[in-house]
Amino acid sequence: MADFDIAIIGGGLNGVGVARDAAGRGLKVILLEQNDLGGAAASSSPHLLHGNFIDLEQGAALRVRQALAERDIMLRSAPHLVRPKRFVLPVHEAERPPAMLKAGTYVYDRLASGGPHKKSETLDLTIHEMGHPLKRAFGLAFEYSDCTVDENRLVVLNARDAADHGATIWTGARCARADRSEVWKLAVINRGNREIVTSRALVNATGAWTARTAATVLQLPGVQASLSRTSQIVVKRMFDHDNVYAFQNDDKRVIHAIPFERDFTLIGRVERKFSGDPDTVSVAADDVSYLCKAVNRYFRERIEPADVVHAMSGLNVQVDGPLKTRWRRDGYLNLDRKFGEAPLLTMFGGTTTTARRRAEVAMTRLAPFFLGESNWTADAKIPGGDFDYSKFNAELDKAWQRWPFLGGRHAQRLLAAYGTRMEAILGNAKIMSDLGSVFGEDLTGAEVRYLMAHEWARFPDDILWRRSKLGLTMPAKDREALAAFMSQATVAAA
Ligand SMILES: Cc1cc2nc3c(=O)[nH]c(=O)nc-3n(C[C@H](O)[C@H](O)[C@H](O)COP(=O)(O)OP(=O)(O)OC[C@H]3O[C@@H](n4cnc5c(N)ncnc54)[C@H](O)[C@@H]3O)c2cc1C
Repeated sequence: MADFDIAIIGGGLNGVGVARDAAGRGLKVILLEQNDLGGAAASSSPHLLHGNFIDLEQGAALRVRQALAERDIMLRSAPHLVRPKRFVLPVHEAERPPAMLKAGTYVYDRLASGGPHKKSETLDLTIHEMGHPLKRAFGLAFEYSDCTVDENRLVVLNARDAADHGATIWTGARCARADRSEVWKLAVINRGNREIVTSRALVNATGAWTARTAATVLQLPGVQASLSRTSQIVVKRMFDHDNVYAFQNDDKRVIHAIPFERDFTLIGRVERKFSGDPDTVSVAADDVSYLCKAVNRYFRERIEPADVVHAMSGLNVQVDGPLKTRWRRDGYLNLDRKFGEAPLLTMFGGTTTTARRRAEVAMTRLAPFFLGESNWTADAKIPGGDFDYSKFNAELDKAWQRWPFLGGRHAQRLLAAYGTRMEAILGNAKIMSDLGSVFGEDLTGAEVRYLMAHEWARFPDDILWRRSKLGLTMPAKDREALAAFMSQATVAAA
C-alpha cells in the first residue's frame, strides 16, 4: 500500500495542473517543488493567453483553433487572472504585406467563433489613438482579440485548488531519488529534512530539469530534448491605453509590448538556444538590446538598456530528434508502463494556454491505473474565479461597497489577484489599519499572512515577484520590514 496515488515532481504550470486535475478526481496526490511554485518557467512567461496568431503562418489552423478554445475556457475559469485585450498589429512596409495580415485576422476571428470576443478591425493609425505612441511611418494596423494572464498566479491558484481537493503540496522539497518497483519510493529533502514517500505513479514535470531528473533522480534514460532561453524586459509605461502591441520584427518574430502592473510595459520576447545548467540561466545583455531595438523601430519614445527596470529569463524545453515536429508546441507527454512496475509519466513544454488540457490528457493516460472521476476542469473555476469575466467591474464595485476604505488601485490589484477570495484577506476590516502593517504602497500584514498560510509564501521574493509583482515598486526599506515581518509571523500552514 503506497502513501499516495500520484507523486508529482515539479511545481510549474504542468505539475500543478496535473496535481489539481488528479486531486479533483479523488486521487491522493503529493506535489514536490524544490524551490517556490512557478519559480521557473512561469516567472519568465510572456503573460499571453492566446491562439498565437502568427502560428497561422505555418498552416497550424487546428492548433490555433484548439488554443483559442482553451483561451476561452480559461477566461471563464479564471476571470480575475485572465484579461481580454485588443492586440494592435501595425503594418510595416518591410514586413508581411497588409493583405496577408488582414486575411490572417479574418481567419483568426473565424477560428475563435463562438467565443465572447470582439471581431478584428482595421485601424487608421494617422487618426486612431493607437497610433499616438507610434512613429509617423505607421499608417495602418489590424486589431484583433486575445488575452493576457498572470501565469505565476495561475500556478499558485492551481496548487491552491489541488490542496482544496486534498492534495499535499510541499515547497522547498527536492526529490533526490526515486526508486521504482511496484510502487515508487521517493527520497525527499524537505526543508532540510530527509523524508521517504511512496506512490503508485510518478509524474516527472520538472521542465528544464527533465533530463537531469531522469538521469540522476530516476536513474532512467531521458528523452532527447533541447533548451532555449527566453528573455523579456520591463520598462516604465510607454503608452496610456490598455491594449497590447504586436510588432513584426525584421527576423520574422513578433515582439509584444504589453501594459504591465499599471505603471510598466512588458516587452518580449527573444528566444535563443541554451546549453548550460538550468540553475544558472540569466538575462543576457544582447537580449536586452535586441528587445530595445525591436520596439524602437515602432515607438516614438526610444528606450535604451539603461531604461530597463526589470528583466527575466527562463528556459523552454523542446523535444529534439525525429519526434520534434510532433511535440513542437503542444508539449511532450509520455507514459512509461512496464509489467509489475509503477508507471512513470513524463511531461514538459507546451503553452500556458493549453496547460489545463495537457493536464487532462495526462490524467487520461494515467486513468487505467486508477478508479477516479472523469474529466472535470473545463467547467470548474480556479479559486476566486466564481464570477463572470464580463462582471469584473461589477465585482470591483461590490468590493468598494463592502470595504470603502480601499483605494482604487488597491481594490483592483486584490480582485485581479485573488478574485472573490479577497474576502479571506479583508474579512470584516472597517479601516485600513485593521489590516495591520503596510509595506510599500498597499501590501498589508493581513495579505502577507494570508499568502503564508494559504499560498505557500515563505520568503519576501515569493510575495514580491511570484504572488504579486510588487517587487517592481517596493522601496528597499519596506522590503526589509517585510522580511522581518515574515520571519516573525507564525501562521497555520495551508
Ligand atoms: C521561456 C518561456 C516562454 C514561454 N512562452 C510561452 C508563450 O509565448 N505562450 C504560451 O502559451 N506559453 C509559453 N510558455 C510555456 C509555459 O510558460 C509553460 O507551459 C509552463 O510554464 C510549463 O512549465 P513547466 O511546468 O513544464 O516547467 P517549470 O515551470 O520549469 O517547472 C519545473 C519545476 O520543477 C522543479 N524541479 C526540478 N527538479 C526538481 C526536483 N528534483 N525536485 C523538486 N522539484 C524540482 C523546478 O524547480 C521547477 O519549478 C513559455 C515557457 C517558457 C519557459
